[in-house]
Formats: sequence, structure tokens, C-alpha cells
Amino acid sequence: MLKNFNNIYISGQLCGVEGYVESAASGLMAAINVYMRISGRQQIDFTTQTVMGALANYITAENKNFQPMNANFGILKPLDVKIKDKLQRNALFAQRSLNKIKELRCDI
Ligand SMILES: Cc1cc2nc3c(=O)[nH]c(=O)nc-3n(C[C@H](O)[C@H](O)[C@H](O)COP(=O)(O)OP(=O)(O)OC[C@H]3O[C@@H](n4cnc5c(N)ncnc54)[C@H](O)[C@@H]3O)c2cc1C
Repeated sequence: MLKNFNNIYISGQLCGVEGYVESAASGLMAAINVYMRISGRQQIDFTTQTVMGALANYITAENKNFQPMNANFGILKPLDVKIKDKLQRNALFAQRSLNKIKELRCDI
């Protein structure tokens, strides 16, 4: 029901993330978007290319078997290329995410 009120921001375990870092990150995301709202600017979509955005996507998507979620590579948007080596794959996920964050920082 709260989804019907786009001016209410929830973070931490109340919103469905699990863990210290995840709770702090969701608080940061909420704070940034409250700031954007009160300064009359467009909300920031962290996108599923960043873990913060992917967590936001996970907790807001319909899910009949919802479980609180930690930060993990599995919730990120898949890469465009297939990379077998896990270390290499995760490094690419991280780089893509950092690039996205840099791009978003210009909007804040
Ligand atoms: C035993 C245990 C071990 C854990 N270990 C880990 C771990 O190792 N690593 C990890 O990442 N996560 C761990 N977690 C999960 C982690 O604690 C939570 O995901 C995280 O703390 C949630 O943060 P939060 O800010 O949403 O809530 P909380 O940290 O619970 O903060 C909520 C705050 O609100 C206050 N509060 C409540 N009601 C009111 C009120 N009416 N008025 C004013 N203040 C109020 C509370 O006192 C509290 O300080 C653990 C959890 C538990 C229970």
C-alpha cells in the first residue's frame, strides 16, 4: 500500500534489505532522493547496474517468496558479455557499477 505514496521513503530492514552496509546504503539512497525531491529535481535511479539500485529493484519487484536481501552479484543486471572466470567477471561488474555511479554523481 505504501507504494501508492511516492513521497514516503523507507530504508534499512524496514524496506527489506538485510545487513549493516545494505541498510546504510538504502538510507543514503533515500536521503539523496529526498534531497532531490525537495530541491525540485528528478529522482536518481541507481539502476540494476549498481548493487544499491539492484537492491531497490529487488525489494520493490513483486515476489511471492520474498526474503530480505543482502548485497550480491546475483541481483545485478547481467553483463553483455559471458565471462567464465569469476574474479574477472566480478571485476567487470564492479567497474561497470563505478562508471554508473560516476555518471549519476553529475546529476546530484
Ligand atoms: C543478532 C544479529 C546479528 C547480526 N549480525 C549482522 C552482521 O554480522 N552483519 C550484518 O551486516 N548485519 C547483521 N545483522 C543485521 C543488521 O543488524 C540489520 O540488517 C541492520 O542493523 C538493520 O539496520 P536498520 O538501521 O534498518 O535497523 P536497526 O539497526 O535495528 O536500527 C533501528 C533503530 O531504531 C531504533 N528505534 C526503534 N523503534 C524506535 C522508536 N519508536 N523511536 C525511536 N527509535 C526507535 C532502535 O533502537 C534502533 O537503534 C544482524 C542482526 C541481528 C539481529
